[in-house]
Amino acid sequence: MKKILDSLYMISGIGEAAVFVIDKQDGYCLIDTGIFKRTNQLISILESNGHPVNKLRTIYLTHCHCDHIGGTAELVKSSGAQVAAHSGDIPFILQEKVISGPYHDMMIQEQRVMKQFDCVVSRVDITCHDEENIQILGGLKVINVPGHTPGSMALYQPDKKIMFFGDVIRNHPKRGLVVGIPERFNVDTEQVKVDAARLLDYPIEYALFSHGDPIIGNASAVIQKTIHLH
Ligand SMILES: [Zn+2]
Ligand SMILES: [Zn+2]
Repeated sequence: MKKILDSLYMISGIGEAAVFVIDKQDGYCLIDTGIFKRTNQLISILESNGHPVNKLRTIYLTHCHCDHIGGTAELVKSSGAQVAAHSGDIPFILQEKVISGPYHDMMIQEQRVMKQFDCVVSRVDITCHDEENIQILGGLKVINVPGHTPGSMALYQPDKKIMFFGDVIRNHPKRGLVVGIPERFNVDTEQVKVDAARLLDYPIEYALFSHGDPIIGNASAVIQKTIHLH
């Protein structure tokens, strides 16, 4: 568990996508929960870093892909935590619908496997909306970025200038910063570029990606050197 700032930590290695931990007064929240079947590992990392599972209050899901939501059902069972997601992805998270676009067939497969392993999220308690302010980490703004999935959400903390990019931009170990890649995972890759431009309009000190190492300090300048969208 890597400390990013006071009250903010990152856990990598629970599958492909990062899990972020945010402390609050009476416990803590998670952003995403890693891949299914690895939840025991996630819980033991949390517990050995002073975050017992019974203090987990809310799970914010950036979007419906299984490497981001996989541990949710199990964590809810052991903690009673609430689940929050953007309205656009809730039907996919609950497996009421299958996403359209290039990812459709893979999503059918993903949903089947999650069902088989009893990892389907059974309810979403909190519906998030674009531009809404979540009262954690001193205020986190929801930004709907619909190119990756219809209800994908990025989150932005304006005082400390922290951006949680979700899957809009990745920091690939070999290729560096990339927008909307791999394309087969997006419902609309052109829209992902629009989404990325919207996110990069914010001043960013700390750039946190679901895939890849974070950029700590002066992130706007670093990203704008590599990525040209305008
Ligand atoms: Zn994704
Ligand atoms: Zn992802």
